[in-house]
Amino acid sequence: MTILVLMGPPGAGKGTQAEVLADRLGVPAISTGDIFRTQVADGTALGQQAKGYLDAGEYVPDSVTNAMIRERLCADDTRAGFLLDGYPRTLEQVAVLDDLLAGQRRFVDGVVVLEVQADELVARLLHRAAEANRSDDNEPVIRHRLKVYAEQTQPLIDVYAARGLVTTIDGTGDTAQVSQRVLAAANTLQAG
Ligand code: AMP
Repeated sequence: MTILVLMGPPGAGKGTQAEVLADRLGVPAISTGDIFRTQVADGTALGQQAKGYLDAGEYVPDSVTNAMIRERLCADDTRAGFLLDGYPRTLEQVAVLDDLLAGQRRFVDGVVVLEVQADELVARLLHRAAEANRSDDNEPVIRHRLKVYAEQTQPLIDVYAARGLVTTIDGTGDTAQVSQRVLAAANTLQAG
């Protein structure tokens, strides 16, 4: 059983690394951002609720996000563990995740934080904007997302660090190099 959380600012490479790690560990990578984007593309009720927040680079309200993740983490494919990419992002989400896992007699094994300097993050996101056609990858929204991360999500690192769960990784370099670091960190966290 492995339950890991991948944290880091927008553009740090969480999505890419979550896929590599999930594949290696044989558990699903659960990305709240991906789930929201799929719901928006499918035009579901949840997607319609979330779209304005995504486009503006704001967090979707906790009530909506938490309800979605509650349902996702009850699915059978999470029994052997899972990887979270982009959740939790607020203190309330940490509390909900704790509560949800406690109810399943489970807990977070570790948190891997990807660190990348702000100017490189902006450059990466602008590059992705040119390629991926994401509605929130334009410069004003990118800068806003970085600010929201610093204000609302960065404090969560201290919360998990106080529990002895955090390993910080240098997120710069090529994808394979970063994957090596992430895998090494995950192995240590799993053993701990
Ligand atoms: P991401 O793909 O992780 O960068 O997320 C893209 C967008 O989805 C964010 O800017 C938010 O609008 C929304 N989102 C993803 N995860 C969360 C979350 N845990 N809480 C609130 N909003 C979220």
